[in-house]
Amino acid sequence: MLALWGEAVRSVEERVKPTHRDQWLRPITCLGFEGSQIRLHAPNRYHKEWFEDHYLPAILSNLESRTKTTYSVLFEVGEEETTKVASRQVVDAPLAAEPSAPVAMPKGLDTRYEFDNFVVGNTNQFAHAAARMVADAPASKYNPLFIFGGVGLGKTHLLHAVGHEIHRQHPEWNITVVSCEQFVSSFIGSMLNQRRQSGHPSSINLMEEFRHHYREAPDVLLVDDIQFLAGKDSSQDEFFHTFNALHHAHKQIVLTCDKLPAELPGVEERLRSRFTWGLIAEIGHPDLETRMAILKRKAELEDIDLPDDVALTVATRFRSNVRELEGALVQLSARASLLGCTITKEVAEEILKSIASPGPTGLTVEAIQREVCSYFEVKLHDLKGPKRHRAVAHPRLIAMYLSRQLTQMSYPEIGSRFGGKDHSTVISAFRKIEKKIAEDPSLRSVVSTLTSRLRQR
Ligand code: ADP
Ligand code: MG
Repeated sequence: MLALWGEAVRSVEERVKPTHRDQWLRPITCLGFEGSQIRLHAPNRYHKEWFEDHYLPAILSNLESRTKTTYSVLFEVGEEETTKVASRQVVDAPLAAEPSAPVAMPKGLDTRYEFDNFVVGNTNQFAHAAARMVADAPASKYNPLFIFGGVGLGKTHLLHAVGHEIHRQHPEWNITVVSCEQFVSSFIGSMLNQRRQSGHPSSINLMEEFRHHYREAPDVLLVDDIQFLAGKDSSQDEFFHTFNALHHAHKQIVLTCDKLPAELPGVEERLRSRFTWGLIAEIGHPDLETRMAILKRKAELEDIDLPDDVALTVATRFRSNVRELEGALVQLSARASLLGCTITKEVAEEILKSIASPGPTGLTVEAIQREVCSYFEVKLHDLKGPKRHRAVAHPRLIAMYLSRQLTQMSYPEIGSRFGGKDHSTVISAFRKIEKKIAEDPSLRSVVSTLTSRLRQR
């Protein structure tokens, strides 16, 4: 596949001035293919955007016309060599192990989610202890560890924390972290590709790569939101064999889920029973004290000045979901800094009135699209269309992100409302914006403004 990418780039290079070729095309590295997703590395954000706007469409169209496959692209941007190495290790793993490569953080582990910044309270203390135990002694006792609980209560956080800790103790291990949605979409991509390519024995077998990646390569497999397997028979079958292979080889598996195994509808019995082989740990809704502690911790990390009475006001109002609790804090601090005031209890109460009534919003994707279009002054037709130009692509990412945040729609449903885009495009949009929000205060305030406008409708 890397050769295919190289050929597509060369076809474009021929039409580009040599200086531009050296300046813009050569520094982009293809890290590998995962199903129909191409992973690229750019030296910095500016370079990535220039490349996306000026060269990527032509390269993709060359590639797509030759393989009859539609690709999505995931960029890794970084000055640091480590990011690059991390991805290479994992993506290249099926072809060649690189035992002597420098140790880098496993791809996909979210740096925000460590044990250190997980606040332990009454309702998550068991899950936290179980996760720590597994991280300290992988595959020795509890395999799989099955963490379950409602939305926004810290399941993903704990899952990644296990990954970080194992990586710290065993830097040479392959730690594979994946959302169940990614697993399914990558499996389906490999399967379709295999069908399409049957009769071309020389083509690289993506299914073999996929199986190697999940069944053989990992020392630890972390799968988020396993409930996504419900009703997907062939993916369940694939996961069943993945599970068996790893479990048999004494490799640690950690799963998160929004339900107990026994309550998972549309998941076959042989899988549900395997999910109970190890340890099941529940995360419950945090009590007031824990919610306040989480707020204080978060404020400390984000360098937000948060008096106790304000923490109490916020924690009293947002009861059932830590993500909303954090969101409220971020919005509060963004608004207070826009208004140029410090956050007092009175200011907080005033601002909180206009933020969020937690829970379902009754908003539709169409309403979100219209609001985003009017904010960025782009046409609805373009927002839903295929243009990759930043002036349209950026608002599109935000609209997809907000659709996922503010409606009950699934990724595929959202994709279909954006002119029939693939769900993996929506997932990648969501992740991208989620990550950028954490890093970029101006984006945070754009998203917060749009959210409050939408909620006031
Ligand atoms: P879930 O996967 O259960 O939906 P997440 O793990 O994504 O939830 O958590 C949502 C947000 O809340 C994340 O930003 C996470 O860091 C934060 N969070 C949840 N529980 C805690 C906790 N106990 N301490 C600190 N942050 C927490
Ligand atoms: Mg989660």
